[in-house]
Amino acid sequence: MDYDLVVIGGGLAGLSAANRAAELGLRPVVLERGQDELYPCNSRFAGGLVHLAFKDMTAGADEIHAAIERSTGGLTEPALTHLLADEADRSLTWLRGQGARFIKAGPYEWMRWVLAPPRPRTPGLEWKGRGPDMLLRALTANLAKRQGRLLRGVAAGEILRRDGRIAGVAAGQDGGAARFEAPAVLIADGGFQGNAELVARHISPKADALFQRGAGTGMGDGIRMAEALGARLYGMDRFYGHLLGREVFGNEKLWPYPILDHLASAGVLVDAAGRRFCDEGIGGVYMANETAKLDDPRGITVVFDEATWATTGADNRFPPTPNDSFTRAGGTVLAADTLDALAAKIGVPADALAETVAAHNDAVGSERYAALTPPRTNARKTAKPIAAAPFRAVQACAGITYTMRGIEIDTHARVLAEDGAPIPGLYAAGSCTGGAEGGPRAGYIGGLSKAVITGMRAAEHIAETRRG
Ligand SMILES: Cc1cc2nc3c(=O)[nH]c(=O)nc-3n(C[C@H](O)[C@H](O)[C@H](O)COP(=O)(O)OP(=O)(O)OC[C@H]3O[C@@H](n4cnc5c(N)ncnc54)[C@H](O)[C@@H]3O)c2cc1C
Repeated sequence: MDYDLVVIGGGLAGLSAANRAAELGLRPVVLERGQDELYPCNSRFAGGLVHLAFKDMTAGADEIHAAIERSTGGLTEPALTHLLADEADRSLTWLRGQGARFIKAGPYEWMRWVLAPPRPRTPGLEWKGRGPDMLLRALTANLAKRQGRLLRGVAAGEILRRDGRIAGVAAGQDGGAARFEAPAVLIADGGFQGNAELVARHISPKADALFQRGAGTGMGDGIRMAEALGARLYGMDRFYGHLLGREVFGNEKLWPYPILDHLASAGVLVDAAGRRFCDEGIGGVYMANETAKLDDPRGITVVFDEATWATTGADNRFPPTPNDSFTRAGGTVLAADTLDALAAKIGVPADALAETVAAHNDAVGSERYAALTPPRTNARKTAKPIAAAPFRAVQACAGITYTMRGIEIDTHARVLAEDGAPIPGLYAAGSCTGGAEGGPRAGYIGGLSKAVITGMRAAEHIAETRRG
């Protein structure tokens, strides 16, 4: 065979797997659909915060695992989440060995390991020469030094089998067809957020109403190829994303930052009828997921008051929050001296907005958040009254960054079949996999750490298998 391993996708998961495989003496090839030397992918666009469930990667396996459980409601695969927690420290060491540079970017645990140089605290997409881009460049250079190959402009289309065994990948290249033969294939194509049909089927009835808050390169090809070989999917319903200003559809400075999550958690998030529809206390990833389920996902509005705008809105930690950057980037913050006037500006019924705000203020005053409809929590995100004029609002939408669920894998990153047994020779890593994120609170644990750890594990198992 041509290679020991064919990797589909040259993001962090694919490049980590290929480098680890080459370190262990294997001959990997990475097939990457992007043509450019600095082809777009979510890994390159990332903020660069390397954490697991917002814990420091060196916090210890027990602490990290407990955080993953809290964030996902435990509705994940325990073996997989234990693996991530166990391997957190080692993956960080491995990344440093590949040339990754880290800085501590702020006071919180999840800011301890930020890929350097960090992105600036400015609105818009800033990736060139930033930490994640530099890491991908280092991994690409390392792979070449280790005699591995990265082929750009190659789109994997089908995983080949011969005599019932994995035999490689058939792909499109230069307008023609090509075959890459190997006894092992790793799917690392980044999820299905870029595929409107799949998003409509699994995530939102109005896929077009979600903003593509990422490279949009995950088209679900890997999931389709894995399914064709009998792979089991671990649900497909949740995604990692944030609340963005609705004007982002016409203003590229409004993504991927600033996000509106913190303002929404302090105030209220209302639908096109002026009513709350989800628990703002859980956080922005959850709110984005609940927004996606609405009939009118582009009809949402974040409502808060002047005091929140001056405090929460001005809290310029990583990433930039709205006060310092949203309006500068062209975003509109509606303001009015009365709630009635604000409702008219938003275009929601005034009585509904008044009732929503009154109920919110009662709950904040009495601390009886469970009495709200729907109930809200207040343990992680603090609700603030909406009482100080001018009252303010930002018309918002949900941005989808990557799908959290997909191909089910075991602790060696082997793809599992419908009966739960691994499909020999078939592996998956990174955002196309399911089992470690999601759950009722749409728990997000960190896409970069998941990509590195699952990629490394796949390579190590392939090497072990080859050694017999
Ligand atoms: C704006 C933004 C900020 C983020 N911030 C953070 C952060 O701070 N911390 C964090 O942990 N995570 C963050 N993430 C998420 C993180 O970047 C991803 O979860 C992670 O990088 C996914 O890696 P991956 O290798 O699985 O997928 P990707 O990086 O998306 O790579 C998949 C690759 O596969 C290629 N591909 C797709 N289909 C095919 C095919 N058929 N044939 C060949 N190639 C194919 C694509 O072109 C792409 O290059 C962020 C993401 C974005 C967009």
